[in-house]
Amino acid sequence: MGKSLEGARALACDCLQIFTASPRQWKASPIPPDRAAAFRAERAASGLRPLVVHANYLINLAGANSTFHTGSLTAFRGELERAIAIGAEYLVLHPGSGDVVKCVDSIRAASRGLDWGSLQLLIENTPGAGQHLGGSFGQLGEILAGLDGLPVGVCIDTCHAWVAGYDLVSAKGYAAAMDELDATVGLAKVPVFHCNDAKADRASHRDRHEHIGEGKLGKSVFRRLLRDPRLRAKAFILETPIDGPDAQARDLACLRQLAGR
Ligand SMILES: [Zn+2]
Repeated sequence: MGKSLEGARALACDCLQIFTASPRQWKASPIPPDRAAAFRAERAASGLRPLVVHANYLINLAGANSTFHTGSLTAFRGELERAIAIGAEYLVLHPGSGDVVKCVDSIRAASRGLDWGSLQLLIENTPGAGQHLGGSFGQLGEILAGLDGLPVGVCIDTCHAWVAGYDLVSAKGYAAAMDELDATVGLAKVPVFHCNDAKADRASHRDRHEHIGEGKLGKSVFRRLLRDPRLRAKAFILETPIDGPDAQARDLACLRQLAGR
């Protein structure tokens, strides 16, 4: 969290995604109420919207290992509580590796009795490697159907969709992918996109993000996405490598230029 709002403002962002704890460690403490209130006030004044929180990468709510599963339930509950405390609009979660029913039941169990406020949980599409859930839009739709009654939606990552097998590069492939997404999840249920180019080939199931325009997707994919009239109200977030002092500014400028804004 720290200086995230300041950093986003310095880059002239409209929205931002943050972690509320270290994304690769189990230990996380609740955010003290005074710190949460200060963050909420600062965010309101900044005009940055939406505020997206990305959940810890270690969490797997779909797996069979009981020790790991118990830890995941606790960690996910903490993610929900911290996201609500700081007034985030969305919490992004990877559906995990294993079983759809287990994933759905775990989300229900971990969120029991929770006052969601204005928070919505977004299940992110994944490269779909091995037993990992979320490689297909159809499976994301299945997860949403299982969570009927809860405030849930989907976040689409362009790199993940490509390495999972969706041909976003050709105009025809893009149209087919968007049609499939609309038919299985519904575009209204997709408020956030992660804009990442991909280092790896289509259907390689390898999750390696690349700078915009420098990977296998290329600039035209992002021009098409950002200018798609159906997606005008969506939030687009970069998760490209931060491998230099101006890396984020460069990718952001590239997206802005492609969007014609
Ligand atoms: Zn992502």
